[in-house]
Amino acid sequence: MLRFQARCHVPTFCNFVAHYSVTQVEKPLDKVHYTKLFINNEWHNAVSEKTFPTVDPSTGAIITQVAEADKPDVDLAVEAAKQAFKLGSPWRYMDASQRGQLLNRLADLIERDRVYLASLETLDNGKPVSMSYNMDVGETIKIYRYFAGFADKWHGKTIPMDGNYFCYTRHEPVGVCGQIIPWNFPLVMQSWKLAPALATGNTVVMKVAEQTPLSALYIASLIKEAGFPPGVVNILTGYGPTAGAAIARHMDVDKIAFTGSTKVGCLIQQAAGESNLKRVTLELGGKSPCIVLADADLDQAVNHCHEALFFNMGQCCSAGSRTYVEESIYDEFLERTIEKAKARKIGDPFQLETEHGPQIDRKQFDKIFDYIESGKKEGAKLMCGGERHGNEGFYIKPTVFADVQDDMRIAKEEIFGPVQPVLKFRKMGEAIERANNSRYGLAAGIFTKDLDKAMHFIQALQAGTVWVNTYNMVGCQTPFGGYKMSGNGRELGEDGLKAYTEVKCVTIKVPQKNS
Ligand code: NAD
Ligand code: MG
Repeated sequence: MLRFQARCHVPTFCNFVAHYSVTQVEKPLDKVHYTKLFINNEWHNAVSEKTFPTVDPSTGAIITQVAEADKPDVDLAVEAAKQAFKLGSPWRYMDASQRGQLLNRLADLIERDRVYLASLETLDNGKPVSMSYNMDVGETIKIYRYFAGFADKWHGKTIPMDGNYFCYTRHEPVGVCGQIIPWNFPLVMQSWKLAPALATGNTVVMKVAEQTPLSALYIASLIKEAGFPPGVVNILTGYGPTAGAAIARHMDVDKIAFTGSTKVGCLIQQAAGESNLKRVTLELGGKSPCIVLADADLDQAVNHCHEALFFNMGQCCSAGSRTYVEESIYDEFLERTIEKAKARKIGDPFQLETEHGPQIDRKQFDKIFDYIESGKKEGAKLMCGGERHGNEGFYIKPTVFADVQDDMRIAKEEIFGPVQPVLKFRKMGEAIERANNSRYGLAAGIFTKDLDKAMHFIQALQAGTVWVNTYNMVGCQTPFGGYKMSGNGRELGEDGLKAYTEVKCVTIKVPQKNS
């Protein structure tokens, strides 16, 4: 299955260097081992006995049937998580450092099964296998290790309050955490949520995306193998409006962390308000601007703006999906951008040289074509792509639109596909105003050699992340999240731990001397 020979390299989402080299990875069609619900460290059919299919996006064929959780299964999983969280349970009794060791053991097991996990991710999601192997699985390992190290280092303070008191704070786990994740980076999104929750001593009920259940279930088997006590992690497969909504409304779920669309993010927040005011963190959509000034290194800017959008077939919350280019370099930038888009290697995601695989499913495929049609109708110029690749699976050729105006749908709405709208601007102030004129505020990129201008943009852009002369560089150490309707709270880095702990303030009266 695996031969270590040539070195393959793909552009990466994170600051990750491809240390490993594979030359061939097989499609694991007959090697899908786990398809049931993982509750209390055991595998269960759904209470209803229902199943649903998961599909291979490169062919449209069904890979296998998976258990379909609904409210009764959520109730069972929440009960397991609640029992595992009880004071005196093995998990609550465990030393913080040992929680860290368990997370490190999980990372070791993922490393052991790295090729298999990459193949499963590509089978179920369609992303190029070189990317699954280098970026997705590689980053997942790093995330578990990063938060493993925090398990015994996330602590409170002593506070010199007025009076004769000893005052200190305790960082306590919130309790049962509901976590709902999307399909675009199944393993990575699972690690962003599980690792900080477990490092801080919570228990988890996670619902994974219906499009990509397989790698998450395999991780569940590794969680058991690593030695996490029963009930600490429970993984459910099923749909959003049923299983997802049951988690969001559950009275015994203390916190919910959600990544996905802004529309569903609003529903999650509403459900929390209408149930038990569970704590809510949301990582939602974006329409992030990439701004290229005339003095930028043009090659660098073209390459980064291309990767900013086409990375992961455009299915990335932080995708740089509005490329603003200063008037004097617009034509040359556009020409090189089109060349790059046309050169992107599209095809079978199991071929190592493939850079661009299929979209996740028929629904997204149709939605993206609807946007392409709207772009044409509203007067944008289609420069390349705009059509299907091949005649099976959900492939869309890298697409570039020129002469895009801010009020067109392709410039305002999140497409979540390989469609790059290129817009022209004249003045810096105008670029800032137009970039900020969005209900989203996840990320922004600025390309310039002028430090003063870069500093001005950094201050002015309303975004949770600003990249300068680079894009999509996210590391486990760096906080990630949105302004405005791109979300609430931050994931990753030290900031990512805050959402998983309550701060308890303890005040003890100290007896007066000689009293
Ligand atoms: P979605 O928001 O519907 O799904 C994301 C997750 O939420 C899935 O696990 C889904 O089952 C669950 N969910 C759906 N409805 C729910 C509900 N009512 N209650 C609780 N959970 C629910 O996203 P999608 O339909 O897969 O994709 C639609 C759009 O969302 C995309 O086109 C894209 O714009 C955006 N999206 C963003 C991200 C991101 O990383 N921010 C990821 C995926 C999709
Ligand atoms: Mg699938």
